[in-house]
Parts: sequence; structure tokens; C-alpha cells
Amino acid sequence: MRHSPAELKRLDRDHYLHPFTDFKALGEEGSRIITHAEGVYIFDADGKRILDGMAGLWCVNIGYGREELVEAATHQLRELPFYNSFFKTTHAPVVKLAEKLCQLAPGNMNRVFFTGSGSEANDTVLRMVRRYWALKGKPEKKWIIGRENGYHGSTVAGMSLGGMALMHEQGGPCVPGITHVRQPYWFGEGQHTSPEEFGRECAQAIEDRILELGEDNVAAFIAEPVQGAGGAIIPPDSYWPAVKEVLARYDILLIADEVICGFGRLGEWFGSTYYGLTPDLMPIAKGLSSGYLPIGGVLVGDLVAETLIEEGGEFFHGFTYSGHPTCAAVALRNLELLEEEGVVDNVRDNLAPYLAKRWAELAEHPIVGEARSVGLMGALELVADKTTNARFDKSLSAGNVCRDICFDSGLVMRSVGDIMVLSPPLVITREQIDELVDLARRALDETA
Ligand code: PLP
Repeated sequence: MRHSPAELKRLDRDHYLHPFTDFKALGEEGSRIITHAEGVYIFDADGKRILDGMAGLWCVNIGYGREELVEAATHQLRELPFYNSFFKTTHAPVVKLAEKLCQLAPGNMNRVFFTGSGSEANDTVLRMVRRYWALKGKPEKKWIIGRENGYHGSTVAGMSLGGMALMHEQGGPCVPGITHVRQPYWFGEGQHTSPEEFGRECAQAIEDRILELGEDNVAAFIAEPVQGAGGAIIPPDSYWPAVKEVLARYDILLIADEVICGFGRLGEWFGSTYYGLTPDLMPIAKGLSSGYLPIGGVLVGDLVAETLIEEGGEFFHGFTYSGHPTCAAVALRNLELLEEEGVVDNVRDNLAPYLAKRWAELAEHPIVGEARSVGLMGALELVADKTTNARFDKSLSAGNVCRDICFDSGLVMRSVGDIMVLSPPLVITREQIDELVDLARRALDETA
């Protein structure tokens, strides 16, 4: 039976608990029903075409409507829809995907553990690093340093590693032994000095925290190469080189959360490659399957993997859907397509510089304090007064106003407070970038 849009909305309101949603605020109007999608566009129940400037949730890197992925899924569903790889069994899709990932990853990474999501990947990481140090005879090396406003997922470990204060306040307490340092957010927190100096200050904050806790008690530092959910926060150029030095000085593992930055978002296969990092562990998800099916994982560097394997015995950890064959088959085909079609190279050589140029034009808008981008990730800082960068009255939520205007006029952008963030499918064209920038500018005009 087909439901009318009105009926669907009523059922939605009555029965579906949406993630990250204020149900009361949805009101009578309810949620917009998305019916189908093609390329970089989604379509709603009224037949409206909307340019998806968020690639779903930072994940549909290959774009919508790829028959090759439908075929990969159907073939695998017929052949072997599910089988676990727990008890001395394995299957081709997961093995081939693991090999492909290790080929693409930085050279020190030759092993991968699969999960169903990015959050589960971060739960895995937390247990792995603590297990690693225990096996190394340093069980007291337990503390993990994350960053304020970082995002690592919604499971208890994921939200504890993340630095989202509002998440910590609900349903706590957080996992003990996790602490957060300041984020390299120059526009919001660093304007007392130059971006370069601020980058070094933020790295210094990590060193200070290590010394406070005692270097023998610190296991790892976790960070997104570029913070996504926190507001597309691009670190100053000085940040990562300084952080690398600090971590090396105190023998602390680096966990680079690649859930958003991985698979081409910054114009390299991984954000770590873009910033010249050699992490010990990399949680991945989202773009791994371009969001077509849920799959995540952790790429594990040789240092940790060899210790877990040689000295660890059984690692009591895993999910029913770790290495799900159908999800793995789709992810593998997705990576092949990204590679065959030169999607990542095209982001680096063509689309990223073009977006940077067009996006920067929006900085001239009267309510934009900063327009920044890296690869195909961007942000606009909305301000009420450009001369002082004073924000709009909080009760107005300019970000939400702008987001809703965007949506109504045919563009998905997300708002994070008063930051508008952008992360379109990597197969967007220059013409579609022009369309996107025009729509964003019109929404800014209407918000002002
Ligand atoms: N890590 C990062 C950097 C993310 O952006 C996200 C989700 O947005 C996650 C982890 C959690 O991934 P998932 O929503 O698949 O659990």
C-alpha cells in the first residue's frame, strides 16, 4: 500500500524517533519526505529538486544512483547475504576490501578491523589502544586526549571521545580517562593572535595536558584531520606539524578519525595524507561505501596490529556485522569506482581549487565573517557585524534560519550554531558548484 505524503508525515510524527531532533520543534509541519535521488540531487515528495550540499551526512561521495553499487549489492545478496567472520571463517568481499583499504592507506597500515559504523569504529579504537599499552607492560597509559567540539560518534565511547558538551550532559557519565583540549578554531577562539601562532598554541595545549596527566599515563590523542560536525574547522597550517612533534616526544599514539575526511573529501584518499600524518589508527566509515550501506572500520598501523596479534591472544571484541559481506562488496565497488573514475584526483586538481575560489567570494557578503574551504568541505561563519565579527542574537539562530531558507530554495547545507557547513558529493561539477554558490548567496541575502 502506498501512503500519501500527509499520511507518511503523520506516521512519522507518531512513531519515529529521529536522531538528533527536537521533536516538539518539528511541530505540525513535520519532516520533509525525501523520495529519491540522482547524482548530486535529492527529490522530495512534492517533486522538488534539491542540490545536496551535504552528500547525505558527509558520506555520499560517489553521488546518488550508481547502478554498479546496486549490482554489487544484489549479486552479493544472492551469493551470500550474510556470514560472520568470527570463528575461523572468512569470505571474499571482506578480504578483498581489507586488501584494497590497506593499499590506499598510509604505508604503515596493513590491517583493518570492520564495524558497522563510525561510532563503533571509535569504540573499537578506545579498546585497542588501552589493550595495546597493557600488552606493552604499561597498563597505566590509559588517558586519551580528545578535543573540545570534536565529534567521534554517538555510542557511549564515541560521545566520550568527542568533545560535544551538550552530548556529555545527556545520559552520562562519560567513559572515564578521557580529557579534552582546545580545538584549532581560529575564527571562533584564536583571533587574539595570528592563525599560525594559534595553531602552535593549540598544540602546546596538548603538551600541557600530557605533562599535567603525566606522560606515562597518556595512551593516545584522537582528532579529526579537519573537524567536520563541529563546523568544518580547518586547522592553521602550523597545527599538525606541531602536534606530530608533541606526540612523538612523549610516545603517544595518534588516532586520526577519518570518518569524514577519508575517501577523497580533502582531495586525497585520507585527511592524514593531506596533512602528512602517519597515524597509528584510523577510524573510517561514511565515504567507505558512499553511504549506500552501513559499514565502518579501523585501519590499524603495524605497531599496534603486530602487538595485538603477537602478544594479545584473542581480542574479545567484535560486532555481528563486522565485515558484513554485502556491505563489504558495495564498499569495495565504491572504492573501485572512485579510483577508476579518478574522483579523488579530480577533487584535488580541479574541484577543490574551483570551490575555494567561488566560496571565497561569499566572504564579501555582509553577514559572512569568514568563508573557508579545504577540498570539498566548506564553512561560512555568519556574523551580525562584519567589523567586529559579533554574532547574531542567539535566540535568532541565524544558522537555522539560513539552513531552512537554503532547503526551501533547493540546497541542503547544515548549520552548526551560526556556522553553515558544506560537503557535497565528490562528483559535483563546476557548473553545479556555481549553482550551489548562487543558491547559498541568495539564502544569505534572505537571512540578512
Ligand atoms: N567520527 C566522525 C569524525 C564523524 O563525523 C562521525 C559521524 O558524523 C562519526 C565518527 C560517527 O559515525 P557514525 O555516525 O557512522 O556512527
